[in-house]
Amino acid sequence: MAMSARVGVGGIFIESNHFTAQLADRAAFERSEWLTGEALLANDTGVLGGMMSVLRAGGCEPVPLFYASACPNGAVQAEVYDELKNELLQQLVDAGELDGVLLCLHGAAAAVNAPDLEGDLAGAIREWVGEQVPLVGTLDLHAHVTSKLLSQTDALLAWETYPHVDAFGTGERGARTMIEILSGHLKPVMAMAKVPVLVSAIHGQTKPPGPFADVMQEAKRLEDDSVFHSINPILVHPYLNMPEMGGGVLVVANENEAEAVFMAKRLAKRYWRNRGELQPETLLPNEAVRRGLQIEGGPVLLVETADCCGGGAAGDSVHSLRSLLHEAPAQAAIVPVVDPQAAHAAHSAGLGQGVRLRLGHQLDTQWGEPIEVEGVVVKMSDGEFVYRGGIWDGRSGHMGRTAVVAVGPIRILISSNATYDWMTEQFDLLGLNPADCKFVVAKNPMNYQQAYAGVMKATFVLDTPGPTPANTNALSYTAMKGGWFPSDPDITIDEPTVIVSRQRELAP
Ligand SMILES: [Zn+2]
Repeated sequence: MAMSARVGVGGIFIESNHFTAQLADRAAFERSEWLTGEALLANDTGVLGGMMSVLRAGGCEPVPLFYASACPNGAVQAEVYDELKNELLQQLVDAGELDGVLLCLHGAAAAVNAPDLEGDLAGAIREWVGEQVPLVGTLDLHAHVTSKLLSQTDALLAWETYPHVDAFGTGERGARTMIEILSGHLKPVMAMAKVPVLVSAIHGQTKPPGPFADVMQEAKRLEDDSVFHSINPILVHPYLNMPEMGGGVLVVANENEAEAVFMAKRLAKRYWRNRGELQPETLLPNEAVRRGLQIEGGPVLLVETADCCGGGAAGDSVHSLRSLLHEAPAQAAIVPVVDPQAAHAAHSAGLGQGVRLRLGHQLDTQWGEPIEVEGVVVKMSDGEFVYRGGIWDGRSGHMGRTAVVAVGPIRILISSNATYDWMTEQFDLLGLNPADCKFVVAKNPMNYQQAYAGVMKATFVLDTPGPTPANTNALSYTAMKGGWFPSDPDITIDEPTVIVSRQRELAP
């Protein structure tokens, strides 16, 4: 390896949802991360932090390009994607000669003008750097790996934990892979084998036991130092309306394409065999609340995954709230709702004042009707909090103008912006304690399991309308050709579909 190899570092990171009416605007990125120069280099947590630490320790010079991230959302507005992409390409031009480019990507990003955002971005970078400069990327394990992305990059490493706790480690793996390529030890070739499975993340945990955990464990057991550099099971983000969607296994092998294909297929078949266990059971919210009332103590979790901000939903559903008001109005409960107008109205009224609100389904109106509630403003906040762990560990979260409105013992947390649910940071900021409640509404399919471990008395996954449902049969996938599970529960396949990367003569 050349002394002090110069490795460009950057990326665009967002998980997009095609079933919400929302689009990601510039402010969504500005609220999260929009980094160049020293600010990018100073990263010491998350994927970028992992990349920086390994590059420096390996004697490389990290060269800051441009990096932007946003909370999951709809597709990125066309003009915003153009701006992000142009900024990254401009930094690439200004960076001078690079020995490699390392990208932090999600894999399920979409722009209005580039539905395969990562494939488009990687193609543009490849065009500038040419065929001899290695391009290595990290992905979320909920990536939609396309043939364009695979053919434009040399190695892709995905996170291996869900809930996602290995952002830093994945950055390290990305940088280590880059160093192995630059030193000539690794001549990467990739194979991605997919099976037509489109399921929500409810049973996608990586800690055994579980149907996805099973594939993950086997994948990690089969990695080695000679042929199988990386084996990554992929549980595709199911809320994109794209062709060729499916879960599967991504293999980065050393030189041997046939081995890469063989291994990817072998494990994708295992994934296929486990598909039935990946499909969750759901309950209508009234029924879930009634069952919850039969259980002694609390909190009982009402998992309204269909309105998951962490999957790109608006967070403005009031389906759970309506059921609680109807079935259990005398029980203490916490319900989060994103509604900037209602938050504004509560702040205008002021602390201790009564308010009458028209609440919910005003950001993404297709999933339900607003509800009229009368309550008292019991807490107000600017909505600024700090994430404790996960992919945004230590970073600020911005709910914007936020209020808690009490309707009897029910506490409605009304925020202006959608934020990611990691633990209970949002509730903590407003002084809401789930342990004191009979019911808590959690709008995510997975992180509630860690957030309420040891506290929750029971959990019900709800069947409500929304762009991130527990059962994907609620959505209309118009871009998929052929059948898939669970739309066709009896579907059979001959073999997984395999796509492979291009093997390049990378300059060591
Ligand atoms: Zn993910």
